[in-house]
Amino acid sequence: MTEAARLTECPLCGRDDIRQVDTPVEESEGGRTYFIEGILRDRCDACEEEYFAAGQLDRIARAAVALARADLGRLTSEEILELRHDLGITQAELESQLGVGTGTVGRWERGTVLQGGTADRLMRILWAHPELLPELGYVAREGRGPYRKRK
Ligand SMILES: [Zn+2]
Repeated sequence: MTEAARLTECPLCGRDDIRQVDTPVEESEGGRTYFIEGILRDRCDACEEEYFAAGQLDRIARAAVALARADLGRLTSEEILELRHDLGITQAELESQLGVGTGTVGRWERGTVLQGGTADRLMRILWAHPELLPELGYVAREGRGPYRKRK
């Protein structure tokens, strides 16, 4: 468990009513609310502000994304990485194929961001039917933009 740096007084209200707590942290993801356990952090009893270390926020986000993926039946980080390797394409190429922004696939693979339902379904289709990549105009890697190949 990563501990937050201990505070002696609250940066927000200036009081010294700081104590460490590890109560579940509420986090919303995919339209649901999850309670993440085991996050030890400083809390000010005077103003109720809680102070997290940067690594803890990442851990909370990844935990909530993993729970949402399980609930919604979405691909896991490992599956997204696996399908991308199976298709033999880079993160940037998958982003281009799905029409999502730069860095998005990296965030999915690290598990800090939940992929949308449409992107999830399209990735599953491409994984099951890799022959669709050239059919979808995947030669975009040559910088010409997507086009539909004639049969
Ligand atoms: Zn305070």
